Amino acid sequence: MSEPPRKRAKLACVTCNSRRVKCDVTDRQPCTNCITANVHCETRESKRGKHPRKPRTDSNTHEET
Ligand SMILES: [Zn+2]
Ligand SMILES: [Zn+2]
Repeated sequence: MSEPPRKRAKLACVTCNSRRVKCDVTDRQPCTNCITANVHCETRESKRGKHPRKPRTDSNTHEET
């Protein structure tokens, strides 16, 4: 068993990521899907920057006097 250590995480370009399709941008860029679709292949590295979702503020404060 000679499996190469996985260094990089599975990366998908923006297009494939939004389409939820298999992306091979790690092997080649632009990736196959972007070449086929003839669109710009863009990759976004997930840096440290979690965007905390704001809980939807329902206006349930129905105060009556
Ligand atoms: Zn892709
Ligand atoms: Zn792509």
